[in-house]
Amino acid sequence: MSALQIQDVSLGYLTKREATLALESISFSVEDGEFISILGPSGCGKTTLLSIIAGLLKPTSGQVIVGNKQNNDSTIQIGYMLQQDYLFPWRTIEDNITLGLKIKGVYTEKTRAATLDWLQQLGLSDKKHLYPNQLSGGMRQRVALVRMLATNPSLMLLDEPFSALDYQTKLKLEDLVFDTLKSENKTAILVTHDIGEAIAMSDRVILLSPRPGRIHQIFTIPRDIAKALPFAARQHQDYNDQFQMIWKEMESLASTS
Ligand code: ADP
Ligand code: MG
Repeated sequence: MSALQIQDVSLGYLTKREATLALESISFSVEDGEFISILGPSGCGKTTLLSIIAGLLKPTSGQVIVGNKQNNDSTIQIGYMLQQDYLFPWRTIEDNITLGLKIKGVYTEKTRAATLDWLQQLGLSDKKHLYPNQLSGGMRQRVALVRMLATNPSLMLLDEPFSALDYQTKLKLEDLVFDTLKSENKTAILVTHDIGEAIAMSDRVILLSPRPGRIHQIFTIPRDIAKALPFAARQHQDYNDQFQMIWKEMESLASTS
């Protein structure tokens, strides 16, 4: 069964001054357990597309089906991880990661323990009484990952979650996020402008063309690369060919816009 179907989705933004067509005729589907990247230059509509999938924005036309339901059904569980972690600075790490459970009314000793277990698996159990500003950027993103996992969503949306981190931290966190989501058989959609990250993390890469955002091409990443941890994937003998192929397509888009 498809975890997600996007059917002919378009979205225009209306401001007082102008109307911008941000996305045009986007259609694709994502299988259960699949990891997809949406790749494209800044401003091509990636965040807009994730917001539509999350049900935060309504498309001007077309529809989104998550599992077998329309995405305006509130029982659908979607997790979000952003470039900025948006942790509440006045709450401790434990209070931040259990907030979603409390809001959903499912905070119990059992769900609390499961959430703290994630914190431990991500190497942060000794940080639970600290506040976000006492943690490094990489640690904060690990907390954001725990917060996303806490409510056990079936679909994970990741909007450039590594792009504010230094390179080493980014590479380590890519492996950690990949390993964690794969071991839980989660379906994930990662938005990025980084070709290497898209190849290393995904089963398929959807390249968007800018203004308006349209699907330019969908690349299926060879199985060996797609299965490997991202750091190892970057060392794979065929990685560079994939990189060159997608790079060439991105360049062709840049020269026509
Ligand atoms: P990306 O995430 O790929 O950088 P966005 O989805 O944020 O792109 O934006 C796509 C286009 O829509 C851009 O041209 C942006 O300026 C425009 N846009 C985004 N949000 C709004 C908004 N709230 N109102 C009007 N235009 C917007
Ligand atoms: Mg964006």
